[in-house]
Amino acid sequence: MAFSDGRVCGLPANQVDHIEPGDDHSMANLRALCEWCHRHKSAQEGGTAAALTRVRTHRPKPTHPALED
Ligand SMILES: [Zn+2]
Repeated sequence: MAFSDGRVCGLPANQVDHIEPGDDHSMANLRALCEWCHRHKSAQEGGTAAALTRVRTHRPKPTHPALED
């Protein structure tokens, strides 16, 4: 996953993300993300289908582990 400042997440992608949240499961709407990126994106979206499986008490860390100094 590429970040807004141009850096790219180097962690293994083991999650399938829906680029546009919803019921579109076509390949054009799917991409691979690492677990952290997927949680972070889902948390930002909020209130979508992803919320159904999210552990509500667990908040993603603000800094991606691959980008920590
Ligand atoms: Zn990542």
